[in-house]
Amino acid sequence: MSDLSKMTLAGARDALRKGETTSVELTETFLKAIEGAGALNAFVHHTPEIALEQAKAADARIGAGDAPDMCGLPIGIKDLFCTKGVPSQAASAILEGFKPEYESTITQNLFDAGAVMLGKLNMDEFAMGSSNETSTYGNAVNPWRRGNDDAQLTPGGSSGGSASAVAADLCLAATGTDTGGSIRQPAAFTGITGIKPTYGRCSRWGVVAFASSLDQAGPMTKDVRDAAIMLEAMCSYDAKDSTSANLPVPNFEAMLTGDIKGKTIGIPKEYHMDGMPDEIEKLWADGTAMLKAAGAKIVDISLPHTKYALPAYYVIAPAEASSNLARYDGVRYGHRAKLEAGDGITEMYEKSRAQGFGQEVQRRVMIGTYVLSAGFYDAYYNRARRVRALIKKDFDDVFAAGVDAILTPATPSAAFGLGEMKDADPVQMYLNDVFTVTVNLAGLPGIAVPTGLDSKGLPLALQLIGKPWEEGDLLNTAYALEQAAGFVAKPAKWW
Ligand code: GLN
Repeated sequence: MSDLSKMTLAGARDALRKGETTSVELTETFLKAIEGAGALNAFVHHTPEIALEQAKAADARIGAGDAPDMCGLPIGIKDLFCTKGVPSQAASAILEGFKPEYESTITQNLFDAGAVMLGKLNMDEFAMGSSNETSTYGNAVNPWRRGNDDAQLTPGGSSGGSASAVAADLCLAATGTDTGGSIRQPAAFTGITGIKPTYGRCSRWGVVAFASSLDQAGPMTKDVRDAAIMLEAMCSYDAKDSTSANLPVPNFEAMLTGDIKGKTIGIPKEYHMDGMPDEIEKLWADGTAMLKAAGAKIVDISLPHTKYALPAYYVIAPAEASSNLARYDGVRYGHRAKLEAGDGITEMYEKSRAQGFGQEVQRRVMIGTYVLSAGFYDAYYNRARRVRALIKKDFDDVFAAGVDAILTPATPSAAFGLGEMKDADPVQMYLNDVFTVTVNLAGLPGIAVPTGLDSKGLPLALQLIGKPWEEGDLLNTAYALEQAAGFVAKPAKWW
């Protein structure tokens, strides 16, 4: 067979079933690709023994005719997922040496379906960031470059390692998580597909918590069909996550007909941001025209509270993070500071946390603690919660008025240079999430689909936002957009 690493999940699944390759052969191909791609710093813990063992078991299952869709398919796992006996650090020094005694529900679901884990993937520390530059392992690198310019670019964040690995063909697909855009923004920056499902679709059990009311896992894949296949394998009702939805999981792949005739697509006027590059405006207009040509009805809509989403997110997410991260105290997990004579338990907490948490995480913990403090709770946290309810209502209203999906840009720019934002105000970095955080605040499904290249040859993506629990319909609209856009570009190999 030609280059196995270039396959999609669907292609590899079909080839395995036809006996054209084996899971062991596929796995060895990717282990070799990973070894040669150290410059991307995408994989941060390698698990070749586990991978080969899982691959052998998968080949036996396929041979016995018992092969679920993911059986034998090598994937990467974001470091935020707890994987039994394998380092799971959330890219933080505070979890140095932490090897969970348990498996996250999502990785368990994937392994039950026969998936093969190649290793753990780089990310922003505790999933806080948009460039993968807050990682204790150092930044992951985008395989894409601006033309012949060899400046290194960010793969986005927080799921930067996942995005880089999928775009560079180091695995067939990867898991990601998305609290404010961390699947969709890195997918957009690397020319791959990423879906954040409805809040409650994927179990959060065993996924290191950032902001529990916003966190959702999802797949990062080479195309929409693969997203459908992998999402189905990840979803399940899980009694161990109190917000897990007890709903049947549809066969998402079977819903990919590409037929969107008669669907109503909303174009929200508030997403035309001041200073947005013309290229993004054009991408959006082109995508709108594609959906129209495919038979959808296009309507202008208003989501009036959009401009309050980013400030509300940056109150709610840090508030929840400050509470979730209180457990890292030097006692229960990971790093404990060396103490001096006279130090007590307070010094142990303070020193362990000061050494273990990076700057961005410390900033979030401080903001979160501040907005939850007795004197400011009403002014910040409670107000942000009210804004969140209004943002959700904006979406409820347009869906009630007959809109089936909403089309927006995924990000306000293409991938930027690593280090470029180093001296910028942190709010500049937060602006990356301007089109994605609304979706988390409202708990809706959202998908980023690559639809074009900018003038420097970097990928650009559009986002489709769907109704709650209607991922199948959303994936089908995304499929129609993908077919029309025909995005096939790949980064030129330099690593
Ligand atoms: N970039 C956003 C943040 O820093 C979103 C991160 C995420 O979705 N995990 O909070």
